[in-house]
Order: sequence, then structure tokens, then C-alpha cells
Amino acid sequence: MSSSDIAFVFSPDLDFSLPDFADLGNEGQAGTGNVHVFDGARASRALGLFQEGYPERNPNIIAPVAATQEDLAHGLCPKYLAALADPAIAPALIAEIIEVPAAAGASLEALDQVLLTPMRLAAGGTLDAVRIVLDPKRDSPIAINLGGGYHHGHYDRGQGFCVYNDIAIAAALAEREYGIRRVLSVDVDAHQGNGTATFFGGRSDRAHLDLYNEDIWPGDDDAWAATRWPVGLPSGTKGAAYLAVLEASLDLALGEFEPELILYNAGTDTLDVDLLGGLCLTLADIRARDALVLAKAAERGVPLVAVPSGGYSDSSHIALSGLLEVASRPRTLS
Ligand SMILES: [Zn+2]
Repeated sequence: MSSSDIAFVFSPDLDFSLPDFADLGNEGQAGTGNVHVFDGARASRALGLFQEGYPERNPNIIAPVAATQEDLAHGLCPKYLAALADPAIAPALIAEIIEVPAAAGASLEALDQVLLTPMRLAAGGTLDAVRIVLDPKRDSPIAINLGGGYHHGHYDRGQGFCVYNDIAIAAALAEREYGIRRVLSVDVDAHQGNGTATFFGGRSDRAHLDLYNEDIWPGDDDAWAATRWPVGLPSGTKGAAYLAVLEASLDLALGEFEPELILYNAGTDTLDVDLLGGLCLTLADIRARDALVLAKAAERGVPLVAVPSGGYSDSSHIALSGLLEVASRPRTLS
């Protein structure tokens, strides 16, 4: 296998920037400026950095196709999707999900353009990545979608900047289109993947392994109960301790569950300089983490789709470019 077997799902349209909501018809509100600490250009910046550093590597770069309403309806509540399409209800709903109160005064049309459209593209990218790794005609066991990882999205509501839970609809697609019976979610974003947990809980064909900072939001007890391997870590956890726990947890989950597909939610808000994550991993630690997860999947021959999820620092794109580097390392034929 060569590095050209690795697929990156990417389009510049995965980038988004939240505008000043005063410009979107929210009269009387002061401009909110940079309302969220998330780097909306992370996908482009990460890919650019990777290509600059490793010009000799040649991953397949595949443009995502936006998730359709039908794709979303396979995993999400019809009433929730209808509310997101209703101009009278949706702006307030979206404002709550993205935690930007001023967005409630914007029109649905404007919010759809700046926010929901890029999010549907990111969600579609996760579906595309699943189709790539499961396509029997390809030999692409790893695909990285440079958008997505909306792990706080629930069946009937969004939360924490997550409108559509792409991991959940991707698992549903793997089962529906490819007959995949056991899907393992490996979620290492610093925040508890509570949305994904509730989708995956109570089922024999889904399992959720979650390594997260237990001292920060959301602290969701229902999600904890729905998670097959919940691993809460204290704030300040450093790389060595983190990696040891991750390796033991992965060995346990892979051994017990024997997944046919891994959906890897590779949040970079575990970085020590992150504004929200509270963990203390260096860039090298995050690269070691990603290498460990990908190696464990490869050892067992399990296809893996990775998504970037959260990251709230100006170095988030550097950490994400590390995942691209790890995924595209040349492999020897065996
Ligand atoms: Zn996070």
C-alpha cells in the first residue's frame, strides 16, 4: 500500500466564518465580531501546512458532497429537521445551538448560507469518507474528512455548535449501504462526545469509547451511562498519562467489540494551549495519539474514518496537519 491509497476529503468550502450578525438583519444589536473561538479556516490551513511540509506525499483529495435532507433523515429526528427548515423557528434554535444569541435575529436564509450549508458539506464529507473506506473496489482503509466531528449533536436537538451529528449518520450509512454490523466510535476530543454516546448507547452493533476531560462541559450523566467505555480524565492531564490510558482503552475496546469500522473523532482541543479543552497535550503528543489510533486500526485491518471535531486555539490547524501527516506516512507492502 502506498500513501496514494489514503484519501483526504476536502474542499475550500469546508471553511466558514461566522459574520457579524448585525449584518444579517439583526437590527439594533451591536456587532459581535469574532463570536466563536473556533478557527473556521482550519481545514484549508491544515491541508496547506501539510502540503508545504510533505510535498512528496500524494494523497487522493476528494471533494465532499453535501449531505442531503434524505441523508440526514436516515439518522436524525424528522421534527428536528423540519424545525431547522422553518424560518419562524430555526434562527432562535440555531442561535442556541451555536451559542450566539445575536444569531436569533438573523434570517434563516442567511444562517443557512454561512453556517448550515458548510455544516451539511462537512457532514456529507464524513459520509463520503465512509464510502471510500468501505468501497470493495478501492484499497483505501483510511480516509480523513477535514470537516465534521459534530459529536454534541443529538437525535432531536443540536448542542455545542453541533447541528447534525455526522458520526451518527455515517454509522447508519455504513450499516444501510455496506451491511456493516459493528461500528466503534473512538472519540478523543477534549469534550465528552455526549451526542454520539446517546446515538450509540444501548445497541449491540454500536459502541462508543470516549476519552475526555471530565472537569469541563458537558458533564452529561445520561451520555456517560450510554457510553460503553467512558474514560474521564482530570484537567491538566499530560501526554504520557493520556497515551497510556488511550492505548489500554483501545486494546480493550478493539478486543471486546471487534469493530468492522472505526469512526475516529480526533478533536485537537486536547492541545495544551487550547482555550476550552483543559488538557495538556503537546503537538507531538497529539501526533502520537493519532498515530496510535491509526496503527491499532491497521493492525486489526479495520477501516477508519477520521474527522477533526473541536479545536479552539490558533494552533489547532497545526495539530490537524499532524493527523494528515500520520495518515499519509508511506507503508511497506506486506
Ligand atoms: Zn471539543
